[in-house]
Amino acid sequence: MMTVTATPPTATPTTFERGTADSLRAQLRGPLFLAGDPAYEDARTVWNGMIDRYPAVVARCLGVADVVTCVNFARTHGLPLSIKGGGHNIAGLAVCDGGLMLDMSLMRGVWTDPSARTARAQAGCLLGDVDRETQLHGLAAVLGFVSNTGVAGLTVGGGFGYLSRRYGWTCDNLLSMDVVTADGRVVRASERENPDLFWALRGGGGNFGVVTSFEYKLYPVGPEIIAGAIAWRVEDAADVLELYRKTQETAPPEFACIAGLRLAPPAPWIAKEIHGKPIVVLFVCHTGDIDAAERALAPIKAFGAPVGDIVQRRPYVSQQSLIDAQQPKGRRYYWKSEYLGGFAPDLFDTATAHAQHIPSPHSAVLLFPLDGALNRLPDDHSAAGNRDAKVVLNVAAAWESSADDAVNIEWSRAAWRDLRRYSTGGVYVNFLTEEEGDERIHAAYGENHRRLVDVKTTWDPTNLFRINKNIAPRSA
Ligand SMILES: Cc1cc2nc3c(=O)[nH]c(=O)nc-3n(C[C@H](O)[C@H](O)[C@H](O)COP(=O)(O)OP(=O)(O)OC[C@H]3O[C@@H](n4cnc5c(N)ncnc54)[C@H](O)[C@@H]3O)c2cc1C
Repeated sequence: MMTVTATPPTATPTTFERGTADSLRAQLRGPLFLAGDPAYEDARTVWNGMIDRYPAVVARCLGVADVVTCVNFARTHGLPLSIKGGGHNIAGLAVCDGGLMLDMSLMRGVWTDPSARTARAQAGCLLGDVDRETQLHGLAAVLGFVSNTGVAGLTVGGGFGYLSRRYGWTCDNLLSMDVVTADGRVVRASERENPDLFWALRGGGGNFGVVTSFEYKLYPVGPEIIAGAIAWRVEDAADVLELYRKTQETAPPEFACIAGLRLAPPAPWIAKEIHGKPIVVLFVCHTGDIDAAERALAPIKAFGAPVGDIVQRRPYVSQQSLIDAQQPKGRRYYWKSEYLGGFAPDLFDTATAHAQHIPSPHSAVLLFPLDGALNRLPDDHSAAGNRDAKVVLNVAAAWESSADDAVNIEWSRAAWRDLRRYSTGGVYVNFLTEEEGDERIHAAYGENHRRLVDVKTTWDPTNLFRINKNIAPRSA
């Protein structure tokens, strides 16, 4: 029998018999790729260019039955099993060495029910797929800020975006999920059906099953809103960030604003003489009434001497993809993150000081708004918890060459070491890097961790789903 060998330069080589692969292929509707196949290389690579893993086989599922087949196959053959939604996880959790990579990227259907204000989205959808369909009806789900990231990883990890101040975590706005369990059953998880699974999958990551579709609540948004980005020289950072703090603390929930400190990219909307120099930038988005939005944004647009301003009337979907191009697939990425309980007095000065030493033109210190609806629910409402978080801090390093790994990683770590004193003690599970293990996973879940272990022990006692920020089951 012929064998194919996946030969990772950094991990144990694995062999996988072609006959075994052929038996799996025969049971699938979607395609399957092995090392040596022309499509294998592209299929195994994920967004973060730091991740270089070699699955024995990549199965691109074309329906729930394919997912069931893959789960049963991985379990009976004792193969590691990874699940790929959009492939954007910073830790590269979509891909494993020597196992079965279950790739959902062909399952991108979205069904909107405008009268019920709900949408069901298949788990291979990118955020932009869902926005595109729901915006036909002037509706939107609570999703993230970058349209080419996956809904699946985002939703099972919690999820936040421009609508979170109004409506909470993405997973707070889930009505149900269809799930393939570790023993290959197809079940629904909702408040009424399998509520323990529903609770855990809303924040607990891919630990409990393969979600094949998500049913989201939708809200009226746009299709046109006032939004965009506005930037100033870093010399103005103290004043701009004070304006940001005041705005954030007083603005209605319709208004969400991300602050970033970085080197100015060579974007046409930023004055040419500023390119490559440090800037402070606000990404603003008002999803309420257009006149109210114009009034709310006027003081920001009039503030100081911006070096670029594209805050204007625009389609909601254009705001949702405004920063897509700045984070392309294949670049090298490393993040350190914390939840903050607010804006401590010297937070901005500390962040600005580290931003002055950014070694790469692609890196940034970012502050995302969370305060509002999610703070009003109890911590155990779902696994996502962290109901005391008001801001997400992310020290996001991005660079091109492996020769520059050390300097960029150390910049991110040094800034984080200094900034983590403002943390609530919690951290967003979806922002944990490859090396962040048990201690950080506990920090991500706090008191909810114990209940997650219970649910894991019920639904996945053998830890089939372990290529994730793992919640280990209790041993029998
Ligand atoms: C550029 C960029 C911008 C981002 N912006 C935001 C943001 O605005 N808001 C936010 O909340 N997060 C954001 N994130 C984080 C993002 O939510 C996570 O990276 C998330 O994991 C991406 O989902 P994915 O489907 O692309 O992940 P993948 O890498 O495909 O999967 C990650 C993990 O999710 C789990 N998973 C995937 N599919 C399934 C499934 N069908 N069933 C069960 N588990 C599954 C698995 O454990 C898998 O290993 C951003 C990430 C990037 C790279």
